[in-house]
Order: sequence, then structure tokens, then C-alpha cells
Amino acid sequence: MDDSASTMESVKTCLSLFSEAVGLVKKTQDLLPDSVEKEAIEKSLAEAGKASKLAEAQIAQALGYRLCQCTFPPQVMLSVGYKENIEEFKCTLCNKSSIAPSIDVHIPATINAW
Ligand SMILES: [Zn+2]
Repeated sequence: MDDSASTMESVKTCLSLFSEAVGLVKKTQDLLPDSVEKEAIEKSLAEAGKASKLAEAQIAQALGYRLCQCTFPPQVMLSVGYKENIEEFKCTLCNKSSIAPSIDVHIPATINAW
């Protein structure tokens, strides 16, 4: 692993800890009484969560991971092994594969008639 890759891994770890912290704060905010401050906290947490997801996707892309665009910010696609000789990646959210499904081509009998 070169320096930039290890730096990216550190940033990724930092971001996932940040996301965890945001998640914990979200849980505790439910205990707060309704107020203008609570609304502001909810809004800030939503923005922070979105920003960290976007940063995570950008880091994943810089590390060479594929992204699934089923959501914004995008989801990271992870390797699930090989399908024949091609490495397959799947979205952890929608389960979409990087390998397109094979299309059955049906040639109507009338075309081959002559
Ligand atoms: Zn997806």
C-alpha cells in the first residue's frame, strides 16, 4: 500500500467514525423536547450525514472502487468474487451487479425463413 492509499484508508476510518458519531447523536436527539434548537440539530445532522456519505463515496472512487448510482450520495460496490473470468461487484444497498444480465436474443422465425 503506498502513502496515498494508506492516507485514504485513514480518512475512510475517520469518516466512518464520524458517521457512527452522527448516528449516536441522532439517537439521543430523540430524547430532546421539541424546540427550534432540536429542528436545527436535525437539519445539521442530516447535512453532516449526507456530507460524510459523499466524502466516503469520493474516497472509495479514488481507491478504485465502483459506485452505484441508485442513491445520492452514491453507494460503494464491493467485490463478490468472479463470475466466469470477470470480477463481479455488487451494490450493498440495491444488490445491483456490475455484470449486465445476459440478453436472450430471439430472432423471429420469419427472418430466417429463406
Ligand atoms: Zn445500488
